[in-house]
Amino acid sequence: MLNKPVAVMDGIWQMRLPLPFELDHVNVYLVELRDGYMLVDCGLGTEESYGELTAQLGEIGVPVSAIREIFLTHTHPDHVGLAKRLLDETGAGLHMHAAELDQLTRIARSADKPLWLDEVLHRAGVPADLIERIEGSFDRIRRNFVELIPHRVLTGEETIEMRSGVLELVLTPGHSPGHLCLYDRGTRTLLSGDHVLQWITPNIGWLPERDALGEFYESLDRIAVYEAERILPGHGKIFSDLKGYVTKTKGHHDARCAQIVEALRGQAKTAHALVSDLWARPLAPFHHRFAVFEVLAHLEYLWRRGEIRREGDGGWDLWIAS
Ligand SMILES: [Zn+2]
Ligand SMILES: [Zn+2]
Repeated sequence: MLNKPVAVMDGIWQMRLPLPFELDHVNVYLVELRDGYMLVDCGLGTEESYGELTAQLGEIGVPVSAIREIFLTHTHPDHVGLAKRLLDETGAGLHMHAAELDQLTRIARSADKPLWLDEVLHRAGVPADLIERIEGSFDRIRRNFVELIPHRVLTGEETIEMRSGVLELVLTPGHSPGHLCLYDRGTRTLLSGDHVLQWITPNIGWLPERDALGEFYESLDRIAVYEAERILPGHGKIFSDLKGYVTKTKGHHDARCAQIVEALRGQAKTAHALVSDLWARPLAPFHHRFAVFEVLAHLEYLWRRGEIRREGDGGWDLWIAS
C-alpha cells in the first residue's frame, strides 16, 4: 500500500491512488450510505490503481462488495478508468451526468481514435508528424474509455442520502461538459472533483462548438456562493479557501485571455503557434495536445465575445485581434 486512507470526517474517507503521469495521483472518496458505501470516482484502470484501492478499502475495513453505488464527478480516465471492473465485481449502481455519458460513449465507440480529434488538431495548425506523436501518446489512455450503462443519468438537480446527511449535486461544466460537485450543507463539505483544485488550475475541456471557458467561468461563480469550509478535491490536498481559489483561477484565465489578444494584435496565428507564445518550455506530445485545447478554449471564448476574428487559410484556422 502506497498511501493510507484518510478519515476526513464521519462517514467519508479519502483514498489517494497512483497515476503514471506528471500528475502523480488522483483522490477518490468513500462515502458511507445508510446501506453500504458509495465510491466517488474510481482511479485509472491499471493494476496498481486497483491494488491500491482494494488495499486501502481493506485498511478501512470495507470489502469491495460493500460498494453499492459509484458516482463519477466526470469521465476523464483518471476518474472513470476502474469503473467497469468495479461495476462488474460489485453490481453497484452507476451515477453520472448525461453530458458525461454522451462524451464517454462517443469516445468509447470511436475505438482506436476519435476521428474529430485529427481534424481539430489539423485545423489548429498542428503539423501532421506531431499529430501522429500525440495520438501515439494517448494509446495507453484509450483503454480507460469503455461504454458504461448508468443506473441513474443525472441532471445536477439531484441529492444523495448519506448515512449522516445529504449530498447536493452542483453542476459545474467547463473542465468537462457535465462535471458534478457534491456538497454537504450540514458540514459545509464540498467534494469538488477537478472543478476546484488547490495547487493547479484545472485544464479547460474544450470541445467543438462548446464555449467551455465561458461555462467554466459560470461554474466558478456557481460554486463561489457555497460556504464550503472543507474542500475534498480530485487531486492534491484538502483545503478550505474556496473564494481565494475562485479569484485566483478567474485571474489566471483573464490574464491568459489578455495574453492571447496581445499576441494576436496585428498578426494572425494558429492555436498551435500560440502554444509557443504561452508556454516557454517545449511540451511533450501528450501535454502539447492539452495546451492546444486550452488555447482553443480561450480562442472560442474570445471569438464569441467579438475580441478576435477567425480567418481560414489553407485548411488552418488563423486568429487575429479584432
Ligand atoms: Zn479531469
Ligand atoms: Zn482528474
